[in-house]
Amino acid sequence: MDKIIDLRSDTVTKPTKQMLDAMKNAETGDDVMGEDPTVRLLEERCSDLFKKEDAMFVVSGTMANQITVMTYCQSGDQIIVHDRSHIYNLEVGGISATSGVQPRAVSIDNGFYDLSQLKKEVHTIDIQHAPTVMVCHENTFDLNRGLITPIEHLDQLSSFSRQYGLKLFLDGARIFNASIASKMSVDRICKNVDAVAFCLSKGLACPVGSILLGTKEFIHNAKRMRQRLGGGWRQAGILAAAGIVALDNMIDRLADDHINAKKLAMGLKEIGLGIDLNQVQTNIIYVNLSEVPLDSIYFAEQLSVLGVKVKPIEPKAVRMVTHKDISKKDLENVLQVINDFLKKIR
Ligand SMILES: *Cc1c(COP(=O)(O)O)cnc(C)c1O
Repeated sequence: MDKIIDLRSDTVTKPTKQMLDAMKNAETGDDVMGEDPTVRLLEERCSDLFKKEDAMFVVSGTMANQITVMTYCQSGDQIIVHDRSHIYNLEVGGISATSGVQPRAVSIDNGFYDLSQLKKEVHTIDIQHAPTVMVCHENTFDLNRGLITPIEHLDQLSSFSRQYGLKLFLDGARIFNASIASKMSVDRICKNVDAVAFCLSKGLACPVGSILLGTKEFIHNAKRMRQRLGGGWRQAGILAAAGIVALDNMIDRLADDHINAKKLAMGLKEIGLGIDLNQVQTNIIYVNLSEVPLDSIYFAEQLSVLGVKVKPIEPKAVRMVTHKDISKKDLENVLQVINDFLKKIR
């Protein structure tokens, strides 16, 4: 096989020709001074789409998450996160190192917080406890599964947060996958959350960038925190131009990635890999290797030699992610390669 078929993540997507053209022709200005017209346009388009007061273009989802915590929390506060979340596991301890915040990691299986359990983790100010100020959730949940959080649960989580005076932050890195798969607008999904972030650089295929949304006051403060992190940028319109193309052209096509993920998952199941089809809801496939006599790192290495890249996520599990640079034909090749490989080792 000539082409490397890269299923590790949807972050590997390359910008489209239309994006590159738009980037080349972008009108720019100094965004730290608030004068980049293309950045402004992207941010306005996003606040309209999400029906949030304001938006801010940032380098990455990680930066959006960190800025949110810096904006909402004081050192010594507690925030509630789920134990498999990006903000808790994959941001180099940033919430603690940068904001001095104590995470309370709650274990949730399929993206549902048990609210009676959660209630016990909410601490008010007293002589001993770190006061709880925020709840973080992910939709899709989580980065190795891509499950859709039912809107009822998100709304419950929001009422809960309001009841206890907590901010609710949605890390919606792949919110458009949730939106397309559940046929629900992003503004409805995010209606009752205080702040939300999403990535332009994943399935939407932009080279760089994420968007953080919330109230005017929140974004105003968040801009100062972005500057503190060194994330103020100048002619960022060159990157924002790709984001505008993504909003116009790359959202609806996510449905194809979801169809492809289902197809691939069914094929993998047929050849004997551990797949729970009910859990293949968007573009991410969690593949259980318990029936295969090798560990995930070796499995991934061997497939890589054969031109297929997958991501080991647990000793006996790998992740496969479909995206715009993976075609139907590629999927047939993937199934062929894995089938041949398994026959050889069994
Ligand atoms: C990818 C991801 C992030 C981080 O985004 P980057 O742009 O890679 O920093 C945050 N949260 C979730 C759930 C993600 O999947």
